[in-house]
Amino acid sequence: MGGDVVEKKVEKIVKGGNDVAILRVKAGVCEKCGERIYTKDVHKKIEDIRSELKQKATEMYKPIGRTYAYESVIT
Ligand SMILES: [Zn+2]
Repeated sequence: MGGDVVEKKVEKIVKGGNDVAILRVKAGVCEKCGERIYTKDVHKKIEDIRSELKQKATEMYKPIGRTYAYESVIT
């Protein structure tokens, strides 16, 4: 915080278990530090999606690629 908060549509990456979903969400974004604030409804929806990913209930999601884990620590 510390700057003006502007409403924007932002990309949000949600991880549940080993699965990941890319979402477009409405957020208040601090112009100064980029911190995001979500409404209660958006936050709830994000957590619902996280649970669905964990439970592998992903029929509604469109697969767009593969996710890889890079084994080494990048320093
Ligand atoms: Zn800020």
